[in-house]
Amino acid sequence: MEERGQPPHPYGSMTAFKEVAAKSGKTLHEIMLENEQAIMGVDAAKVNAHLDLVLDTMLAGVELGLREEGLLPAPFAFHRKARRIHERAKAMQGGEALLQLVSSYALAVSEGNAAGRLAVTAPTLGSAGTMPALAYVLHHHLQRDRQAMRRGLLAAALVGYLCKNNASVAGAEVGCQGEIGVASSMAAAMLAYATGASLEATEVAATIALEHHLGMSCDPVGGFVLIPCIERNAFGALKAYNAALMAQNEIVSEHWEDLDRVIMAMLQTGKALPPQFREMGTAGLGMTMVNC
Ligand code: SF4
Repeated sequence: MEERGQPPHPYGSMTAFKEVAAKSGKTLHEIMLENEQAIMGVDAAKVNAHLDLVLDTMLAGVELGLREEGLLPAPFAFHRKARRIHERAKAMQGGEALLQLVSSYALAVSEGNAAGRLAVTAPTLGSAGTMPALAYVLHHHLQRDRQAMRRGLLAAALVGYLCKNNASVAGAEVGCQGEIGVASSMAAAMLAYATGASLEATEVAATIALEHHLGMSCDPVGGFVLIPCIERNAFGALKAYNAALMAQNEIVSEHWEDLDRVIMAMLQTGKALPPQFREMGTAGLGMTMVNC
């Protein structure tokens, strides 16, 4: 097994992470970067190169997906729609246009994943479209530079690590809240931190996004990662965007929930979900496939 180094800033919860930040006087991205360097035994340039690879793969996934159309490989007729929605969105105005553009970005990557194209597990392949949608927004709509995007990705990594370590990111264990819910929470943290939110506001963004996915079952139609998975990425991205905006517009010290408690709630909720709502495809939407 590969030898890994010890992180200089260990933490097991968001509460502990905030204590590390307060004691060390370091920022979220400094702590994450130093930990990553020590764990992987590489310098900052290597970590940044990997972050860039992740970001470039996400952005390329959106671009490629927006150019494709037609059927996806599936045992039933299942059509791509990212390109069509994107084309229509360009003719829209204001809020409607933004809602549809963000949706098209998430759909583009998720459809690409369904077609077997390279995608980043963030945190899983079923939820691989959520983060790229907001990475695309950061790059193309908000004109954030690469440094800001790397920092946002490190904030997302913090949230993803906490969810995986303290609960689960597997639909088979905790339902879709662990996949799209965690992806949305990571994306909210990325958008918030990359646009200048404090550590506390970033936590609130991640908390809001995860909170409003609690209880979401995993019941893919026919057991295939198509319905509702592909569209669900679009909704995960939109919730993440809203969560980041809400976190930046409220008084964060007044926010009631915190990330650690919501992750715990996700685990408890997931354990309470009947097994047929954890990736079995034998209940809920999974039962809507009609054999003709
Ligand atoms: S419904 Fe299930 S398979 Fe589909 S994205 Fe959610 S957790 Fe993954």
